[in-house]
Amino acid sequence: MELIIKNLSKTYPNGVQALCNVSLSISKGMYGLLGPNGAGKSTLMRTLATLQDPDAGIVKLGDIDVLKDKQSVRKKLGYLPQDFGLYPKVNAEVMLNHIAQMKGITDKNQRRQLVEQLLNQVNLYQDRKKALGTFSGGMRQRFGIAQALAGQPSLLIVDEPTAGLDPSERNRFYNLLSELGENIIVILSTHIVEDVRTLCSNMAIICRGEVLMQGKPNDGLGKLEGKVYHKLINKSDLEQYRGDYQVISTKLIGGKLNLSIKSYTVPGNGFVKRPADLEDVYFDYISQKIDPDSFL
Ligand code: ADP
Repeated sequence: MELIIKNLSKTYPNGVQALCNVSLSISKGMYGLLGPNGAGKSTLMRTLATLQDPDAGIVKLGDIDVLKDKQSVRKKLGYLPQDFGLYPKVNAEVMLNHIAQMKGITDKNQRRQLVEQLLNQVNLYQDRKKALGTFSGGMRQRFGIAQALAGQPSLLIVDEPTAGLDPSERNRFYNLLSELGENIIVILSTHIVEDVRTLCSNMAIICRGEVLMQGKPNDGLGKLEGKVYHKLINKSDLEQYRGDYQVISTKLIGGKLNLSIKSYTVPGNGFVKRPADLEDVYFDYISQKIDPDSFL
């Protein structure tokens, strides 16, 4: 099954154009939608999840017209929004049982089996009797996935799921998502390059509502390879370098700035070539759209 998005546009009543002619083709596997805050990711995710309408465009999931036949899409869809409420006093098992019931699984035994399978899948079986309000950030997110999987979806949308997770929780969550991506379409919306690098075989970079790049992470890397140079500089010299070079990113290391630039010729001046990484690709694209100071 394939998800096809064609020329999707959305302008909010306050005049902000959140999506501008967005077209993407997404197949089974993990798909990364990468963009800075305000890029339009949530607007796109909510539209795909049938929670809001665009002004124009077409979305098809297999044969289903997503924008018109919302009921059919919802049967195939799992959605983990950026913020989701949990009933703090209810335990994980009771809550999942309730959700399965709402999804129309009326047979008690079948429901019990599904809940057990979901709890195991997201590694929360041991914690099934704990109240949801006592869950850590990572446990919450994994419970959110279990909840989203209760309807056995063929499309799973997760919006900024790793924000706020500590490294071990993030790893666990990565493992869970990559397992899911073996069987269904998983769209991961994130501003964290690491999420996409680790998980996604296909990706798009979106900024100010426009798709700047889509393809495999390696396609982007190939275009930059051999053109990235770096150098440690004093913070106070940054403005000068910005005038002279095409700055991709800066990172503070021990009080100094590690400045990375893109150059088609050998820049000299103490710059050393280094391999391009996905973060370079990301910054290179979005710096064409927004002032680098707002994200460096
Ligand atoms: P992201 O998820 O990438 O951070 P969003 O889709 O949330 O981006 O937002 C895209 C743009 O649309 C931002 O400029 C945001 O302020 C604006 N926006 C989002 N939701 C609304 C809304 N309900 N009303 C008006 N503007 C909105």
